[in-house]
Amino acid sequence: MSNVVVIGGGAAGMMAAYSAGMSGHTVTLIEKNEKLGKKIYITGKGRCNFTNACDVEDFFKNVVSNPKFLYSALYTFSPDAMIDFIENHGIRTKVERGSRAFPESDHASDVTKALEKGLKEYGVKILLNTTVKDVVIKDNIVSDVRLSDGTSIACDYAIVCTGGLSYQTTGSTGDGLKWAKKSGLTVTDVRPALVPLNCKESYIMEMQGLSLKNVKLNIFNGSKKLYDSFGEMLFTHFGVSGPLVLSASSVIGKTLQEIKSLKAFIDLKPALSKEELDARVLRDFNENMNKHLGSVLRGLLPASMVPVFIQLMEFDDSRQINSITKEERGILISLLKAFPFTIVGLRDFKEAIITQGGVSVKEIDPSTMRCKNIQGLSFAGEVLDLDAFTGGFNLQIAWSTGYLAGLSLD
Ligand SMILES: Cc1cc2nc3c(=O)[nH]c(=O)nc-3n(C[C@H](O)[C@H](O)[C@H](O)COP(=O)(O)OP(=O)(O)OC[C@H]3O[C@@H](n4cnc5c(N)ncnc54)[C@H](O)[C@@H]3O)c2cc1C
Repeated sequence: MSNVVVIGGGAAGMMAAYSAGMSGHTVTLIEKNEKLGKKIYITGKGRCNFTNACDVEDFFKNVVSNPKFLYSALYTFSPDAMIDFIENHGIRTKVERGSRAFPESDHASDVTKALEKGLKEYGVKILLNTTVKDVVIKDNIVSDVRLSDGTSIACDYAIVCTGGLSYQTTGSTGDGLKWAKKSGLTVTDVRPALVPLNCKESYIMEMQGLSLKNVKLNIFNGSKKLYDSFGEMLFTHFGVSGPLVLSASSVIGKTLQEIKSLKAFIDLKPALSKEELDARVLRDFNENMNKHLGSVLRGLLPASMVPVFIQLMEFDDSRQINSITKEERGILISLLKAFPFTIVGLRDFKEAIITQGGVSVKEIDPSTMRCKNIQGLSFAGEVLDLDAFTGGFNLQIAWSTGYLAGLSLD
């Protein structure tokens, strides 16, 4: 049996320490915060959407970067296995819309409690308020883990579970990425993902606070469509946010950083074709011939969009409906089907749910999470170049890779 040090007491680290303990190893879990799972407390708006109770095959469709790498991890420790784990450690769970799983209490702290119980079960030693400074590697073999107080802990295995760079106040400051680079491992470019987007046009900011439901967002790089999906989005003081936008950020992030500017269009009436919408607008116009354009638009649009529409149509606000030509109606229909704006950047890591990029999965054996070229070094969780959409998928990646890492030591 081996001496194992797990670095980082987040989702991946707690699970890695649990499964290493279960496998009979002597395990020390090191966390720099005053408590375990600080990020878990803020997940799912404090309710912790800890997994997605979907089939494993459906799971892969929600993984944005390197889904194939996750086959062994997810089949070894699936979403169902995670639900069983939580239940078996005294916490009842529930599954909501979109197969999102939560603790029944709606308290994220319950998820951490279940993990802590598991750690106790196998006698894992937990060092809180303890920062790892470095992982010492000699002749491509891990020898020990150096702490910030100058002391070292000798080990046969170090499992690095230090997370990414998002929400750094929770402790995820990218230390594992630095150690990986220093050890000669490839670390892919990192960027914020599941993050709001900055926009160019001031009219977008004028609509801050407005939330749109059941719209379709289309994003293009020139004539190439990068993203389209239906859902809910929100205008803010800097640009756009909301579920649809967060998902889009994960898909377009790399191109956006290269190109710096992408055109986006909102289809405000996705259920209607252009022809159907024209018929609907014509009917509205016919019933309101002597009214002002603005008052008729209010029947078609949220109030804060009306002045923006009038500005973009370059119409005089006081125009009566009976003066609007067929061509002018066409401009309105085009705007309703493709309301334009320009995306100019990702918001900062501080606002990002997840980090895209990380330790290259090419460096890691997917069936063990062990580093291919350095004996005794494993990685799990967000420190790896893995990320997924919202819905419990990112935490499950942490649980599954952590579990496999702890299970796969000699
Ligand atoms: C606001 C928000 C909401 C989210 N909601 C959800 C959700 O509902 N469902 C979902 O699936 N995902 C959600 N996520 C994503 C999810 O939280 C992460 O994917 C997951 O926590 C990653 O786990 P991890 O263990 O790899 O890393 P982390 O959770 O980042 O844990 C890393 C740990 O390592 C410690 N550490 C770092 N460096 C050192 C060091 N040098 N020495 C000692 N300790 C160190 C840190 O303090 C930290 O505790 C959310 C993220 C955010 C920011």
